[in-house]
Formats: sequence, structure tokens, C-alpha cells
Amino acid sequence: MSASRPSRDSTQSTGTSVPLPEPTSIAGADPLGALTDLAGIGPARASKFEAIGVRTLRDLLFLAPRGLFEWPGVEAIATSRERRGARVRVRGVAVPPRLVRMGGKRSLVRITVEDESGSIEALFFNQPWMRDNVRGGETYELCGRVQRGKGGEVMLVTPRLGSSERPLPPAGYLAPRYQAPDGVSEEALAAFCRAAAEQHAGRLDEPLSERVLARFDLPELARAVLHAHRPPTRGAFEAARRRLAFEPLLAAQARLAIRRRSADRGRARPAEVSPELHAEILGRLPFTLTQAQARVVSELRRDLGRRVPMRRLLQGDVGAGKTVLGLYAAIATVEANGQAAFMAPTELLAEQHYYGLRDLLTDAGVEAALFTGSMPKAERRVVLERLARGDVQVLFGTHALFSGDVRFSRLDLAIIDEQHRFGVEQRARLAGKGEDVHLLLMTATPIPRTLALTLYGDLDVSMLEGLPPGRGSITTRWVRGQERRRISAFLEERMERGEQVYWVCPRIGADTAADEDKPASAKLASAERRHEQVLASKLAPFGVELVHGKLPADERSYRLDRFRRGEIAMLVATTVIEVGVDVSSATVIVIENAERLGLAQLHQLRGRVGRGPVDSHCLLLGNPSAEERFRVLERTRDGFELAEEDLRTRGMGDLMGLRQSGLNTEGFDPDADLDLLLAARDLVRDDDELARTYAGRGSEPLTP
Ligand code: ADP
Ligand code: MG
Repeated sequence: MSASRPSRDSTQSTGTSVPLPEPTSIAGADPLGALTDLAGIGPARASKFEAIGVRTLRDLLFLAPRGLFEWPGVEAIATSRERRGARVRVRGVAVPPRLVRMGGKRSLVRITVEDESGSIEALFFNQPWMRDNVRGGETYELCGRVQRGKGGEVMLVTPRLGSSERPLPPAGYLAPRYQAPDGVSEEALAAFCRAAAEQHAGRLDEPLSERVLARFDLPELARAVLHAHRPPTRGAFEAARRRLAFEPLLAAQARLAIRRRSADRGRARPAEVSPELHAEILGRLPFTLTQAQARVVSELRRDLGRRVPMRRLLQGDVGAGKTVLGLYAAIATVEANGQAAFMAPTELLAEQHYYGLRDLLTDAGVEAALFTGSMPKAERRVVLERLARGDVQVLFGTHALFSGDVRFSRLDLAIIDEQHRFGVEQRARLAGKGEDVHLLLMTATPIPRTLALTLYGDLDVSMLEGLPPGRGSITTRWVRGQERRRISAFLEERMERGEQVYWVCPRIGADTAADEDKPASAKLASAERRHEQVLASKLAPFGVELVHGKLPADERSYRLDRFRRGEIAMLVATTVIEVGVDVSSATVIVIENAERLGLAQLHQLRGRVGRGPVDSHCLLLGNPSAEERFRVLERTRDGFELAEEDLRTRGMGDLMGLRQSGLNTEGFDPDADLDLLLAARDLVRDDDELARTYAGRGSEPLTP
């Protein structure tokens, strides 16, 4: 599975540092030219554009506007004053402006304009020159949002100012909106985009055929770029937006298609699982597989028996029982004399997998070992030697498995748990550890099936539906106000019955000095402080420990083990416990400052409970800014439904952390453009030349 870019020398001695993604384009290397070819852009300004991913003239042309603003017409000041929150344009005679200096670079210019109907004041912060732009007695236009100050006064804050020498755009003028980088105004950026489009859009090649364009009712690239930055009508702008959104989708799908083709030529060592072995492995499990699990096992069995390297993504909700499927694949691989790597995103989870599966593996005659970044050097060395000799057959670990000194004697299978938490580079490097390894990616962060199939277009997707039998319900509640006082009694009642509790706080330490002046509502709960409070309360006798990412690994696993064994009833923790931790007698999770977490994260955290037969509770503490999210969680426990909801409310780019995975989805509208996503996949699959054209463009695909 060769990457489509030059390989990189990896001299890192430890695996703890995550490699940075390489820039997708190099300034000036693009045939359309460098950013600095454009009048008004020198090297200093060009470097500012990097913050928004714009490095070449082409990047600028393809920069997707984030919306469209239609300039309003002039209205009477008296009526505009009533339209709080609206963008208005007024015209009036200015009274001489006043400049107030507030120390340092801070200043305020106040400009009042009046027409026959009334007057309105405009405030300009830290733009002292505005005073000299305005002369009393002359006529100006102001365009901005109507706001109300603390004392009820109506004003325009930092509106656009037009004079007879420099008039504002006319009413009805359509101005694309942009996300400008620091140090460049949105206006300036818009002007550069427009100039670039006017001068260079005509030079763009059209990779798509007329037939394809007609089928999706899309404009040609050159016209789309021009209309995105200089829209003649709203309709033309929308069509341009769609066309520009199509480009990164095509690029991503093209790379996937090409990788898929080269993977098809790959040579993995087949691990055939005989019926006897199959039955033996299943017989070692402490439970009977569900129907869905059994189906996935047969998919894995088929994949592993082939020469074509397995590329399988296993999607299943939190607690659906994915680990055991990885275990099956690992044992099958070892039985065929190969080695398997089982990788988790946190040390905590890697440890849990290792300690949880070790005995079962030992009974099956399989040598397993753990390898993490925080292990003592001497211990690491021993593991590495045994691994290189082939004495260790299944290696559990974190991304420390990437370090240059980790050498397998015969790696045949890489299992990547919670794969969405790893970067593209990390996954690629793991797979690069062994030629043509079988790859099993697991994720509890489901995305709708159509999206999965297209976004992960080079993967086969297994869906693990449902949960194992015998799970109690989870009741989720947003707890606020006076109700919070009842939590302690509720926990006590539960713990008396032998149930266990997680209490999650967003930060480890107490408030820092910098937080002192923040209002109480803006402070974040500290796990250390919460732990102390519990120790001083009537809950203390049930036993409580504190767990967070800054603890030494042995101390952390010691504390977690006490919880796992039931020696303590309560664990106060940061979100380190977010993924994977599996303690079936835990029935209550309290999440503080839940407003700080996204749906996916909250769903994951909630998945720590509801793993046994007893009914569970998830108590969300958080401010109303996230009420919508809390209500969705109260309504459903189904991760797939939550994913759809996330898609709807947050948009594609943020969907369960996809942006972080490297897919460029700028400008993509999941409602309007789903057809394009599907079309992109089909087009590049059926057209080799098109796939090659697009493969060199856009962002990195999701998978190694
Ligand atoms: P996830 O899919 O979130 O990784 P796990 O693999 O951690 O889920 O499984 C959650 C729990 O369910 C574990 O305690 C596991 O032992 C248990 N489990 C998995 N499959 C079954 C099954 N078929 N029957 C009963 N319990 C199961
Ligand atoms: Mg898991």
C-alpha cells in the first residue's frame, strides 16, 4: 500500500511525537502560479494566508466562500433603530467625531450621523484613524448590525463606512463572505479572490466531461470559480459553491480509488482458519457471540484467508463487543505463524486490552506483551527483543508501536481500535511496519452507512449492529439548579447496592490564577478538587480514587484496577476514561461541564455505563448553551442516530471528528450535496484517467 507521496525519513527514536502532515502543495510549484504573482501580495502577506490553507494561486481560486451577503438599501435611521440584530444601511450628515484614547493601543471613535428621521451612533474600536476619515457636516453611509448597549442605547458597532469619494457597494450587490486569516481583513481577502478569479479563472482546465456537468447541472470550473468570487446572482453562486465542493470530494475519492487498486495487487500472507480452529477459538470465549458478531467473524475469516490484504473497517456502537472480534483475528493470525499488533489510542485502553485478554491468549498458547511510551526503558528493550525474535506474537500498545525501534519479525495483522482517534499518518506508519499487512480498523464512532462507504471508499465496512444481550437501560438526564443537590444522595443509594460510579471533570487541577476573575459559571470543574470534596463527604467510606492522564502509568492502572475489582465504588476522572474502559458493574456516570463536549464524546463517555444487567444512569451537568445536545442524548442511546443528528446540526466537516481525520469538506453541504459525494466515488471508480487527474489534488484521504 504505497502512499502517493514520497516517503519520509523517520528518524524519531520514540513514538510519542505525532508527525505533522506535509503541506499538500508547495508555493509556486503549481502551474497556475504563486500567490505572490497577484498584485498586492508579497511574501509577508502570502505567509499569512497559510493559516487558511492557501499557499498557491490555485488555492486562492478554490477558496470556498462561507456565505453570501447582499448589500441592503438605505433606510431611514428611525426605522433602522428598531431593527435590532439586523444589518442596516443608513445615510446621514455626520457631527464631528470624537476620539477617546483608553491607554495602550486601545481607543474608541464615536461617530454620529443624522437624517430627517433621527440619529444613530457608530462605534469604532482601536481604529483611531477613523476620526480623520470623517468630517463633521458631510454626508456618509454606514452599514452594520444594529446593537443595543448595556444602557439600552442603540448603536452600530464597527460598521462599514462609505463616503462620496469611497462609496459602499450599491444595494443588491452580492458579496461573498470569507473566513479571513489573522492579519488580513475579510474585505481585502474578498478583493484578492475576486482579482485572482477575474485574471486567472479562465486558465483552469476542465477535467469533467460536458455530459457529467450536464447530469449534475454543474457549471464549468472556470465559471464556477468566477461566480464564487464575483457572483452575478444567488443562483449562480449556489451552483458555483456546489461545483467547488465537488472538487475535494473527487480528489479524496480519486486517491481512495487508486489506493484500492494498488491494494488489490498487494500480497498478504493468508491465514486460513480451519473449521476446527474456528470452533476452538470460539470455544475459548467466555460467552456466545451474537448473530451480528458471528457475521463479522465470518467476514474476517474470509478476509484473512486471502492474499489481498484485508482492509476492513468495523463499525459498532459503544459496548457492541468489538474487542473480541479483534481477538479472533489475532489468534487466527498467530496460528498461521504471524504476528499481530493491537493498537489503542490511549495507554489506559491499551493496558485494559492487554490485561483483559492476556489470560485468554495464554490459555490459547499465544504470547502477548504490552508496549507503551511510559514503560521503563529496560522493560521496553526486553519486549522489543522478544518481538524481533518472534517470541511475542500479539503486541498491545499505543502509538508507541510506531517508534522506529519497534521491529516485528513477521507482522501479518494490524488492529487499530478507536481508529478515528488516530491521524492518517499514524495509521499509515503502523501499516508500513509490515509489508502488506491485513488491517482491521475498529470504531465506536459510527457514521451513516452511505457516508461510511464513500468516505472510507477504499475499505470494506462491517457493521456490528445491536448490543450483546443482558444489558440494562441507560437513563440520561440533564441535571440543573436545585436538583444538583440530590445527586449525592442518589449516588449513595446506588453505591449501597454495590453499584459503581464514574465522576468526570474536564480538567485535572484546581482553578489557576487566571481563572480567578471569571464568574463561577465559567469555571471548569477540577477532578482533584472534586476528589477532595468526595473524600470529605459521606460518600468517602465507599472508596474513591482519582484518575487522570498525568499520573504515572503504574499508579493509574493500580487505581483503575481497584475500581475494576470493586474495591472502591467511585472513580473521579478526567476524560481519559472516554474510550474503551469496560467495567460492567459501573452504573452511574456524572459528567461535569458537559457543555464543553461534543455529542460523540458525550456518547462515548456515557458508554462507560450500561455494560451490565443493572439499569444505568448518565447525569449531565452543564450550562444551557448545550441544551440541544443534552436533549438529543436524553432521547436516544443509539450511536447511529446520534451521528445523523450530529451531521445535521454541525455539518459534515465536524462530523464526529472527521475534519481532524484529514478529509477536506470545506463548503460541503450534507443535505444539498450528498448526491455529489456518491457521484464522486462512481466517477473516479469508472474513469482511470480522471482518478489520476484528481488524485494529485486536494487533501489526504482518510485511510492508509
Ligand atoms: P466495544 O465494542 O465498545 O469495544 P467491548 O468489546 O468492550 O465493546 O465489549 C463490551 C462488553 O461486552 C465486554 O465486557 C465484553 O466482554 C462483553 N461482550 C462482548 N460480546 C458479548 C457477547 N456476545 N455476549 C455477552 N457479552 C459480550
Ligand atoms: Mg472497544
